[in-house]
Amino acid sequence: MPDHRRLGRELGLFDTDPLIGAGLPYWLPDGAVLRHTVEEYIRDAERRAGYRHVYSPVLGKRELYEISGHWAHYSDDMFPPMDLGGEQVVLRPSLCPHHAVIYRSRSHSYRELPLRMAELGGMYRSELSGVLGGLTRVRAIQLNDAHIFCTLEQVAEEASAALDLIRRAYEALGITPARHRLSLPGPGGKYVAAPEKWERATALLTDVLDRSGLSYEAAEGEAAFYGPKIDVQVTDSAGRESTLSTVQVDFHQPEQFDLHYIGPDGAKHRPVMVHRSIIGSVERAVAHLIERHGGAFPAWLAPTQLAVLPLTDAELPHARAFAGRCAEQGLRAEVFGPEHGSLGARVRQARLVPYQAVIGPKEAAADHVSLRLRDGRRFGPRSHGDVLARVGAVVRARGTGLWDEEDA
Ligand SMILES: [Zn+2]
Repeated sequence: MPDHRRLGRELGLFDTDPLIGAGLPYWLPDGAVLRHTVEEYIRDAERRAGYRHVYSPVLGKRELYEISGHWAHYSDDMFPPMDLGGEQVVLRPSLCPHHAVIYRSRSHSYRELPLRMAELGGMYRSELSGVLGGLTRVRAIQLNDAHIFCTLEQVAEEASAALDLIRRAYEALGITPARHRLSLPGPGGKYVAAPEKWERATALLTDVLDRSGLSYEAAEGEAAFYGPKIDVQVTDSAGRESTLSTVQVDFHQPEQFDLHYIGPDGAKHRPVMVHRSIIGSVERAVAHLIERHGGAFPAWLAPTQLAVLPLTDAELPHARAFAGRCAEQGLRAEVFGPEHGSLGARVRQARLVPYQAVIGPKEAAADHVSLRLRDGRRFGPRSHGDVLARVGAVVRARGTGLWDEEDA
């Protein structure tokens, strides 16, 4: 696998600048397209799975994190607080406390549960500059996060459904997990002390994993400070393993924030919080996608989906017209004219683009294009409408294939 830092620079996806700072990459237009497409996939998958999205600010008062437990158990990873008019605010190290407060802002009946609250939101980690690099270790993180507020009886089903969302996302994105891990607490004071809650949460997640049929390993010292979690691990180009996706059961924060719902008995009950992330941080997910695909992204993710190649300047107007029709259909097409070199040279330059549409005099006269697929397959002249329909169908299906063999 290639290193995402080298490839990200070569493909013009992202970069860093010492003036902005270490661990604070910026996204170039092609990288922004890739990121936006991944984020839209996630939002869409979440909407279909019954999640509602919120926005919450990246800052919060220090007190918020004292209540959540971050201040006591996680402050080493947090940026120092900022003094502001007599109070202290911090860059948030996670989204959970904001979501707990949003849940608490309204009263909830048991009929509303499970209540699934999702956000693609910013969070910050004060990583030391020595460990920063590319998109995998950053100080500003865009997290694909969600919290499911539910009854104890609903936890297992919600955790299983989250694992299923993760499995489907990996299929669409072309990601293969290295392994599944049941992350348990280890020795030391990093974890909130509540043995009975840890046991109950661990039993629930173990049961979910056992019934999923997935093989997994338990690992001590890898839990969140408030509870155990299921981690989906992936491997990078250097063979290092990291966590991409996670499902966690939390009895701690609902109590800290005094969350409740009104049960069928009319009395107040404590919900459980299931924290889950389908692709983890957007930065790490995109880094993994760059390495995994070597820049040859599935068609729906590719920054440029169609390279339009006119043979000579005479076919340039036809190429522009075809690219315009692609754009109207929501497809990302770019014209590579003869100023970029011979046809052979342009075909090589565009070798990572899923589809190359070649237009010579014959194609131009008939309003056709000849299609080359990135995998080497070639199709003779076809009408614009036919090509757009087929490529559009593949892109909308958000799969990893380039062509629907069924009716080719
Ligand atoms: Zn959370």
